Formats: sequence, structure tokens, C-alpha cells
Amino acid sequence: MAGGQTGVAAYLRRHRLLYGDTLFLPGGAPMPGVPSTPDNPAEPGQLLAFHRKIENCQNCALGASRNKFVFGVGDPHADLVLVGEAPGAEEDRLGEPFVGRSGKLLDTILKAIGLSRQSVFILNVLKCRPPDNRDPLPSEVAECEPYLQEQLRLIQPKLIVALGRVAAQTLLKVKDSLKDMRAQTYTYSGIEVRVTYHPAALLRNPNFKAPAWEDFKAIRDRYLELTKGGPSA
Ligand code: SF4
Repeated sequence: MAGGQTGVAAYLRRHRLLYGDTLFLPGGAPMPGVPSTPDNPAEPGQLLAFHRKIENCQNCALGASRNKFVFGVGDPHADLVLVGEAPGAEEDRLGEPFVGRSGKLLDTILKAIGLSRQSVFILNVLKCRPPDNRDPLPSEVAECEPYLQEQLRLIQPKLIVALGRVAAQTLLKVKDSLKDMRAQTYTYSGIEVRVTYHPAALLRNPNFKAPAWEDFKAIRDRYLELTKGGPSA
């Protein structure tokens, strides 16, 4: 009984953070101010407003140990969203995902496929840094994932790229190896998902660079198919 009440309280707390005081009932008609849908794109500024709404979150223990909340960066209406696992030390210090050496490498890869940090959106499953960069706990993911879902609903990308095994397993709730996941296409909240290496893995092991480049060329081609009707010549 107490557990059920706790679960309801947690649900309502998250719901209020996401939607304010408007109550949504399963199967109920959308009410004024509902989040965006494909036919009802988000207004400019909604993502920023959502950032402001959740940036002081303390829903899990990571809220107390973080230096900076890391919401994500990029185009609020990007067609491509890149998803990492959680902020690391530099990200926690600066409040931005994928900074430092791995972030610079990601910028270089994006440039090589005709994109930039400004033309995509980059975020993590968790918005706060786990101590010593440990893997996210399932309870932390459960608390934080509604934020990711709302970000995706506001951004409405056509393609998601999961960076690294842990990010992909956390996002997709699978236990497959990175090799197996790289070979497949998934969906998350109705959006197509591709999986590839985390840039930090490419820095640790240069042997991964060639297969990662193949992944990103395929990601570029799929991105062009989804956004412009086909890969460029
Ligand atoms: S990790 Fe997510 S749920 Fe936990 S405190 Fe940070 S924003 Fe809140």
C-alpha cells in the first residue's frame, strides 16, 4: 500500500514537472497546452522553458552530487538527436554534453558527414553525473527518462543515434552487445534509432575508427533519406 502510494506520488511529481498543474488522463482528449505531436509542432522556446522547469531537479540522488545539470545542446528542432549515457566530469563542470576530447572528436565526425553541433541536438539519458562515472542505476534511469521522452517529443527528430553500448542498452532496454546493436535498427518512442561507438571508445582504441566511420556514413545516408528524400551523390 505504502509502495503504491509512493509510486503514485513519484508519478504525480514527474507529471507536474513535465506538464505543470494540468492533469492528463490515459485516453483522455488533449487539453490546451499539451505537448507537441507530429501535427502540432512545438513552439519556439518550449524546449528552453522545459529546461528551466527541470534544471533544479532532485528526483534522484544524483541531483545532490552534481555540479551542473546537463540538459543538452543544439537545434531545438533538429532532425537528428545524438544520445549519450550521462555527463562525465567535464560535462558536469561545464553543463554541456560531449565536451573535452571525445566531444571534439564528435564535432569532427559530425563535420565529416555535413552536420554540426548546432544543426543536431546532443543530450544524455541522465542529466546529472553519476559518481566516478559509474553506469546509471535502473532507478536513476526510471526517474530521469521522462525528461528524455519530453525532450524528444518537443524536438521531434527523425533519427536518433545512441552513442556507445551503455547509452544504447539504457535507451533501448536491451542487453545485446554493441556489435549486435550496430547491425540493427531500433525504434524509441516511434523514432528510428541507430547505434554506434561512443567517441571516447574511438580515442581509446583507434581500431574502432574504421567501423565507426562506416556507421556514420550509413547514419548520414539514412538522415538524408529521412529529411531530403535520399542520400546525396
Ligand atoms: S539525474 Fe535526472 S532524475 Fe536524477 S536528479 Fe538529475 S535530472 Fe533529476
